[in-house]
Amino acid sequence: MSRILDGKAAAAEVRSEVASEVAALEKSGVPVRLDVVLVGEDPASITYVASKERDCQEVGIESMVHRFPADVPQEELASLVERLNEDAAVSGFFIQLPLPEGLDSMPLISNISPAKDVDGLSPESVGRLALGLPSLMPCTPHGIVQLLQRNGIDLAGREAVVVGRSNLVGKPVSQLLLRENATVTMCHSRTRDLPGVTRRADILIVAAGRREMIGAEHVKEGAIVVDVGIHRKEEGGLVGDVRYEEVESKAAWISPVPGGVGPMTRAMLLHNTVQAARVGFQS
Ligand code: NDP
Repeated sequence: MSRILDGKAAAAEVRSEVASEVAALEKSGVPVRLDVVLVGEDPASITYVASKERDCQEVGIESMVHRFPADVPQEELASLVERLNEDAAVSGFFIQLPLPEGLDSMPLISNISPAKDVDGLSPESVGRLALGLPSLMPCTPHGIVQLLQRNGIDLAGREAVVVGRSNLVGKPVSQLLLRENATVTMCHSRTRDLPGVTRRADILIVAAGRREMIGAEHVKEGAIVVDVGIHRKEEGGLVGDVRYEEVESKAAWISPVPGGVGPMTRAMLLHNTVQAARVGFQS
């Protein structure tokens, strides 16, 4: 029987720290504000943005959503990015992805000032992370590392295996694990003998986006398993990339879905917004 990597509890801790920092910053005359660019009517995007607004409200961060129809010209979004970069009242901002067809997110994200890039996804933020320079870190990878560390799990010298090499999760979480002195192996769809590689892991991070693909045969006895995947079940509710019941009896620690990485991702966005407000204050 494994111990639970409780993302709800760790995220509540982060939110409470953020709330204290927001109060202290506001007291010293530094407003903390998160702006969001929301384009089109994608229901999932609308739900995500609404939950991020609620999160902000809970910790005292002001939020503002810039809404556009799906056929907004790219140039209009580009000039908004410029304005938000310049606006001293805005601590940080992000563009809710994916953008509707016909719009290109990369040129927009590339122009977000690194000091305001609370998603940590711009090429400059990604480069700074790779070089070990100070930067705002992408929320899901940072949330994963925080979830481990806040449960007293030391990463130095451990064998970490990451399944998935996306720009959003797999690559940046590997960078962060490396920064914490883990020995990191990355797997992807062309990896040969996946179970053979994942069974080497002391710490197994699964971000493949394949429903319940990881079972007991992939996991070493006593491993720490973090399930990043999110999949909606037809009958309602969520499952991850890991067959929870099967792996739970073998792993020392496991993150549930829901209630694992998801809440940490949301909490780290708030953390980044405060960081951005503080950096703006110092510069
Ligand atoms: P992507 O689809 O962008 O990347 C998936 C990665 O997994 C790819 O690198 C792919 O390899 C690899 N992969 C796919 N199938 C296999 C396989 N059979 N064996 C080994 N590797 C495989 O997904 P994301 O990284 O964006 O997201 C992953 C999951 O995490 C999704 O379920 C997503 O919903 C969830 N997610 C959850 C978040 C949270 O807050 N909890 C936040 C972000 C994502 P290749 O490169 O070779 O194609």
